[in-house]
Amino acid sequence: TLTERLSRLVKTMRGQARITEDNVQEMMREVRMALLEADVALPVVRDFIARVKEKALGAEVVGSLNPGQVLVSIVNRELAATMGEGVSDINLAAQPPAVILMAGLQGAGKTTTTAKLAKHLIEKRKKKVLTVSADVYRPAAIEQLKLVTRQAGAEWFPSTKDDQPLAIAQAALDYARKHYMDVLLVDTAGRLAIDEAMMREIAELHGALKPVETLFVVDAMQGQDAVNTAKAFREALPLTGIVLTKMDGDSRGGAALSVRQVTGAPIKFAGTSEKIDGLEVFDAERHAGRILGMGDIVALVEQVTQGVDMAAAQKLADKVKSGDGFDLEDFLSQLSQMKKMGGISGLVDKLPSQLTGGRTAQLGQADMDRAERDVRRMEGIIFSMTPQERRKPELLKASRKRRIAAGAGVQVQDVNRLLNQFEQMRDMMKKMKGGGLMKMMRRMGG
Ligand code: GDP
Ligand code: MG
Repeated sequence: TLTERLSRLVKTMRGQARITEDNVQEMMREVRMALLEADVALPVVRDFIARVKEKALGAEVVGSLNPGQVLVSIVNRELAATMGEGVSDINLAAQPPAVILMAGLQGAGKTTTTAKLAKHLIEKRKKKVLTVSADVYRPAAIEQLKLVTRQAGAEWFPSTKDDQPLAIAQAALDYARKHYMDVLLVDTAGRLAIDEAMMREIAELHGALKPVETLFVVDAMQGQDAVNTAKAFREALPLTGIVLTKMDGDSRGGAALSVRQVTGAPIKFAGTSEKIDGLEVFDAERHAGRILGMGDIVALVEQVTQGVDMAAAQKLADKVKSGDGFDLEDFLSQLSQMKKMGGISGLVDKLPSQLTGGRTAQLGQADMDRAERDVRRMEGIIFSMTPQERRKPELLKASRKRRIAAGAGVQVQDVNRLLNQFEQMRDMMKKMKGGGLMKMMRRMGG
């Protein structure tokens, strides 16, 4: 398989010290195969390889790594960067009702995704959601939406196959306004292949509804064909996002790369089952791993290049064990270690459940983002302390706290909160007696 071939190549580069034209060329041959096998469209592959080559030739091989490993990690990073930057939820920044228009071929998963999104918006964003079907061509389509909308707990606006799509959408919009709905999701008809009447119809709907989001729904199993479909929809409509459905299928998901490249729109969600809760916020990094299938190497390279320092962890563990005071300096180095080991989100995932009370599963992306911000603020506060204050936190009385708060651009209460957190951590460390800490660090380091 491809993963095996790449792994073998990485091994053969073990004896080499530097990245050269030759080993880049060799690696790119395999990567090209990888992408084609994952059903990425050929022109997209060419562009991608060219970009990676350029980055690779300037790259350095650090530590115990070999050029193969570094190259795999560059490829992985570029894949993730191409498919998206961070996560992007549905944009609702419009005068309510915010209209979301669903576009895509027949069978892509529009109706299913409409209901999944309704559920997402109700549960995660606390919105009042109305759905409507403008699919008057397939007899069962309207009933299907009614059914899944009920499952989602949203409201459904009735339409019939004798109505005009535009009239349906207009009536639903009026209703949504009168009933103070936050969001109106408009499901549309698709054809089996691109056809002009369909494109004209959805373009008209777009013109009349002025949606804040126009989502292109595409089946991840569509592979190469996804490119042409995406192009046609891109020309007819200003797409604001992509939903990749059927990611639970056995495709390697190369369509993600192609569709993203062709439309320029962010991939917002991935459909992961036919069930109403089978919708995930798209994660480009994870998806890059799926396309390339080289997660282990990528993790290793990250660890080495970001300098996860097991020696420092050991020193800290010894210090706690020997009963020496755990001070703010240690706390700071612990924070930065945590960040190196994959950020707070990674950390929370890896923490033993007794520390998180088994609550990790309930933490959403918003919690993670907040946690990352909190850590940066905590570091800022500690940076504003003198070395003496860091070693002797008991020196921190009101006037010092005020100076530190001003220096870090925060409130005194933030300084107090940090000191509380520090104390909690110190207590926890005492309980774990260092041995547990070492184990925890090792687990986080992988
Ligand atoms: P539409 O024609 O675009 O409205 O597509 P539908 O929503 O009717 O979906 C077509 C088929 O794909 C249905 O059988 C759905 O159950 C199925 N489907 C949609 N999304 C997913 C998904 O993410 N995973 C799986 N396994 N099936 C899906
Ligand atoms: Mg449908």
